[in-house]
Amino acid sequence: MDTVTHALIGLTLGEMAPKDIKHRHVIGLSFGMLPDITNVILVHPYLGWIAGRTIPFAGGSDFIEFPEILNHWTYHIWLLSHSLLFWAIIFIPLWKRSRGMKLATIAYASHILADIPSHTGAYGLEPFYPIPYIFDGWFDAWLWGPGPIAVSIISTGLVYLVVRKLRLHFLWPSELQSETTL
Ligand SMILES: [Zn+2]
Repeated sequence: MDTVTHALIGLTLGEMAPKDIKHRHVIGLSFGMLPDITNVILVHPYLGWIAGRTIPFAGGSDFIEFPEILNHWTYHIWLLSHSLLFWAIIFIPLWKRSRGMKLATIAYASHILADIPSHTGAYGLEPFYPIPYIFDGWFDAWLWGPGPIAVSIISTGLVYLVVRKLRLHFLWPSELQSETTL
């Protein structure tokens, strides 16, 4: 799944969260994107470099042409950042800290859950990494061209707008209280 779609899913979760959580949209959006930081700073530059690209940043086809990336440490860091086991170890202890942390925990999980079905075969996610079990997903969103990516971004953006509208009517108990005291 592309990073913008992930960001919009996170933004939608931020919109759904109680309004008194400070910076809820920023938290949702940034933690929704966060797992892919390993892709942007490690996997794509390294793979772009071994693929001999002028600008060292790999495209989707480079992953197919250079399957040795699957055994490289940069790819393994990416697998780690997309592991539900890693997520549980890092975020579950922080869950009780604040409601902002709860939102961050859910937004990060949304990223992994969206990527699990959208990577297939050897390029599938390892949901319990470092336990070597590859989940064979249903489709390869990461190989999509600009057209399907645009469809994905626009449809997720529309979902966000619908949720924004619905939030005028669906309120959390804390929001009801602040309305009555106003
Ligand atoms: Zn990802």
